[in-house]
Amino acid sequence: MDSEQDASSYSRKNLLSAEVKSMWNLVKISKNLCTREQCIRFAEDNGLILRSKLCSTHRVPMKVVIKGNITVGSFRCHRGTCRDKSSISRAKGTWFENANLSFPNIYYLMYCYAHHWPQAMVRLENFNEGPVLSSKTITDWYNFCREVVVSYQIDQQKVIGKIGGKNKVVQIDEIKFGKGKQNKDKSPENQWLLGLIEDDSEDLRLEICNDNVRSVEALLPLIKKHVKEGTIIRSDFWDSIDSLTGSGYKYQKTNYDDTENPIDNDENYIRRIDSQWRVVKRFYYRDNFKNCTNFADMMVECLWRKSISEKHEDPFLKLIEAVKYTYKL
Ligand SMILES: [Zn+2]
Repeated sequence: MDSEQDASSYSRKNLLSAEVKSMWNLVKISKNLCTREQCIRFAEDNGLILRSKLCSTHRVPMKVVIKGNITVGSFRCHRGTCRDKSSISRAKGTWFENANLSFPNIYYLMYCYAHHWPQAMVRLENFNEGPVLSSKTITDWYNFCREVVVSYQIDQQKVIGKIGGKNKVVQIDEIKFGKGKQNKDKSPENQWLLGLIEDDSEDLRLEICNDNVRSVEALLPLIKKHVKEGTIIRSDFWDSIDSLTGSGYKYQKTNYDDTENPIDNDENYIRRIDSQWRVVKRFYYRDNFKNCTNFADMMVECLWRKSISEKHEDPFLKLIEAVKYTYKL
């Protein structure tokens, strides 16, 4: 990705009116995805299910029937011996397989997840008929959504590749989440994260570390995973500029009171990683990560949300994209 182009699009904080107008909101969801027929059409139009399927015996397109499940229906061949066979669920191998929630509620929960709604709000705002959504149903679907988002996001990072490059600067820093005693408590609420970010880019990379280990041996594999060789690594972890000698990287110690070097003295550059931590922390406290069992997934999800808001994308459509990516037809 072109980092210069990114920087310019990131610099705009508010959405353009055209962007706002085109986005899915609750009213659009309630108007356009409130009947099963609308929901099926949307799934077809967005490549979440197949429009048609050939009968393996007769090589002719099968008929779509709405029986078989409460979501996308089934395929059925009416020729010859096929007439006695049972229909094939159209949901098989798709996002909707084994779903036992009404179709409009599935999209509604996807919308809620995409917009990071807390459970109370999900229940309150639900326009669909039927009982109030249970906590278990909301949690289950939020977890399904998180699964596809995590696999999509990790693959996207691989596509984009490593950050940094010759003479570019990547800042690294660690942060601890949780309140337990340092280095002793290894429960999920006590996690150390390593953050890596290139100057002039918003592509933050996160890695979970074992405790607060700042040795070159512990951190070098994590740096290598995300950062191109030749990059200048900047942090306050090590004192000697020779710390990374032989590793393929140069090391520069963050100098908070260097008056000689204007770049080193520029608050925006020195504190860049700090502003990234503020974003991550916001997600952490909002989602009550203290009780979460999969901190790593939560962190990847946080990067996904961060990227969507920076690029002014539609969270609901990005979730649809992640589903489509994970459940290839
Ligand atoms: Zn047939």
